[in-house]
Amino acid sequence: MQNVMLYRRFGRTEQQISVFSLGSMRLVNVPPAQAQATVEAAIAVGINHIETAQAYGHAEALLGQILSALPISRHRLILTSKLTPTADSQDRLREHLQGSLTRLRVDYLDQFAFHGINRPEHLQWVLQEGLPVLRQAQQEGWVRYIGFSTHGSLDLILQAIQTGCFDFVNLHYHFFQQHNQPVLEAASQQDMGVFIISPADKGGMLYRPPQRLQEACQPFSPLEFAYRFLLANPRIHTLSLGITHPQELQTALASLRDPERWWVEGLRVQKRLQEAEEQRLGSTRCAQCYACLPCPEGIHIPEVLRLRNLALAHDMTEFGQYRYNMFGQAGHWFPGVTADHCSECGDCLPRCPEQLPIPDLLAETHRLLHRAPIRRLWE
Ligand code: SF4
Ligand code: SF4
Repeated sequence: MQNVMLYRRFGRTEQQISVFSLGSMRLVNVPPAQAQATVEAAIAVGINHIETAQAYGHAEALLGQILSALPISRHRLILTSKLTPTADSQDRLREHLQGSLTRLRVDYLDQFAFHGINRPEHLQWVLQEGLPVLRQAQQEGWVRYIGFSTHGSLDLILQAIQTGCFDFVNLHYHFFQQHNQPVLEAASQQDMGVFIISPADKGGMLYRPPQRLQEACQPFSPLEFAYRFLLANPRIHTLSLGITHPQELQTALASLRDPERWWVEGLRVQKRLQEAEEQRLGSTRCAQCYACLPCPEGIHIPEVLRLRNLALAHDMTEFGQYRYNMFGQAGHWFPGVTADHCSECGDCLPRCPEQLPIPDLLAETHRLLHRAPIRRLWE
């Protein structure tokens, strides 16, 4: 495969980062030779950022083994690892950091992120306990830049960004989930790097799209459309590829060709998808304004109804089931409980500007999407 990669300045880190990054979470689930071939192919097409985490099984050790055997100079790669905020002592945190360096077989990490600032107490711990250790590690040359990943609320993410303490953010933001859009502006004001988490999987299981979605996204595949949507935004710098086979690079590479196609064909697809929502959801479409929260039963009403929107408008039922059945199973990584917990108290109803019959829609969504519970991949 040819090197056709594009690079963007990763915010104030001043690193030139490839617009696609290789995520390593799934590499641990395939034979080592296949993982190696995937890493080599990614580097061969110009991907220079590889992302991992202490929580991804043996991913760090696997990458250390693969990368140390490659004839590529260390300084040509940007390596990121992540550490989950825990109640560990600062000494223990330092040991964790050293552990990442040892497993990755490097003497410094370009980037280290706190993995999942998902709740206010995580941010508090990071600011009070975690950051001083990483600042010290920075001074000692172990770590160059510090960031965070998050599955938290929009308010919490904005609060973390406004501390000014972080060089980059790993963010969930996709065509089919744009609630975090204000983060892009806030991160840009702080000149932070923006890394988009899982556009293919969490962005809608777009590697296995339903027929209706495929037709609506023509002339692109749904995944290429989703990549182009993100790449058209200059505030986004790199997209994570959770691939496990060299072949899976093809769609990413295709989305780099003729970027101006977005402004004609991409916008046409976007309009078609919006029209499908209007036609198929009519007055029951959830506008994703989040005004209905909080729910005393802990139901994440907007997320449940987003999955309903996608299932009914675009036949994304399989994706809806995948996400819906994670409610109650993944703690702060995916907060909320299933919609059958609705007590019909009515608290949310006056807050909904669309005047949606929320309890009825929740019950319908539960019937549509409820299946056996699902756990997160790396747990
Ligand atoms: S009616 Fe149901 S969804 Fe709405 S606030 Fe009450 S319990 Fe929550
Ligand atoms: S207030 Fe209504 S439109 Fe807004 S997110 Fe909640 S249910 Fe959807």
